Amino acid sequence: MTLASAIRDDGARLAAACTACGACAAACPSPPFLGRPVTDPVAAATGLRATLRGEAPTAEGIAWIADCTRSGQCAAACPEALDVPYMMRLAGMRLRGALGEAPAIAGSADTGWAARVKAFGRLTMTEEEQARWL
Ligand code: SF4
Repeated sequence: MTLASAIRDDGARLAAACTACGACAAACPSPPFLGRPVTDPVAAATGLRATLRGEAPTAEGIAWIADCTRSGQCAAACPEALDVPYMMRLAGMRLRGALGEAPAIAGSADTGWAARVKAFGRLTMTEEEQARWL
């Protein structure tokens, strides 16, 4: 399987099983740490599902996918027991132009990586470590 076929085939398979309930987006701890909380989890999840289908994503979906720090909290929240981190990874690659489409998220010019590293750090460090390192 190539990367492109994984994005297309696994993306379509997982999108077909997703109900866009929004539980994953509601459980995601990253956007609040980045100062951009998800205000409409269903719209964010609808954007994730659309991206996996190759359809136009919602603005909420693009923002949520761009803020993903691989916390994995989404997986535990999914009532369908889907591999949401994998879905986010496939959607992120697609939105960064991995299939040759116009990128909706900046790739190598991404300027938001430092904020995401800090957000991930806050999820994994003690208060004392955060005070010392962030
Ligand atoms: S929690 Fe699962 S079913 Fe609900 S939107 Fe997220 S991936 Fe889809």
